Amino acid sequence: MANEKTLSIIKPNSTLDNNIGNIISIFEKNGLRISAARFAKLSKEKAEGFYIEHKERPFFGELVTFMTSGPVMIMVLEGDNAVAKNRELMGATNPANAAPGTIRKLYAKSVGENSVHGSDSVTSAEREIAYFFEKNDVVNRF
Ligand code: ADP
Ligand code: MG
Repeated sequence: MANEKTLSIIKPNSTLDNNIGNIISIFEKNGLRISAARFAKLSKEKAEGFYIEHKERPFFGELVTFMTSGPVMIMVLEGDNAVAKNRELMGATNPANAAPGTIRKLYAKSVGENSVHGSDSVTSAEREIAYFFEKNDVVNRF
């Protein structure tokens, strides 16, 4: 299996609800290791740049407002097939459709306030990691 890195963000609804530890626990129990981490409140510009691919979507304004409404925990996760593994642990975008036991089923409030971000491909992961971290901030865990 391929060792990969992926970008994870614990979104403001879950930092507010004190679920940072519960969510990291799910990652660690499932073989993903944190190889970089930052706790931050995103500026409007930083959040807009991160979600630029969604700029034309009707929910873009709402998404940026939500992502800047409170602190976020931004992490690089590393492990076997980390990109797909993280997406599996997150569950479907809309918590109503998320499988039992997934992070979004357990902790999300709505399709917008859905607890976590995870890169959708290795290519996105590389771009998203570089958007938040310097090379030297990322420690190889395997
Ligand atoms: P995912 O985060 O599962 O990759 P998308 O990339 O499609 O999902 O969307 C990015 C984020 O935009 C979602 O995680 C969610 O916070 C928000 N979002 C997506 N669809 C909607 C929607 N229909 N209404 C409000 N917010 C949405
Ligand atoms: Mg996405």
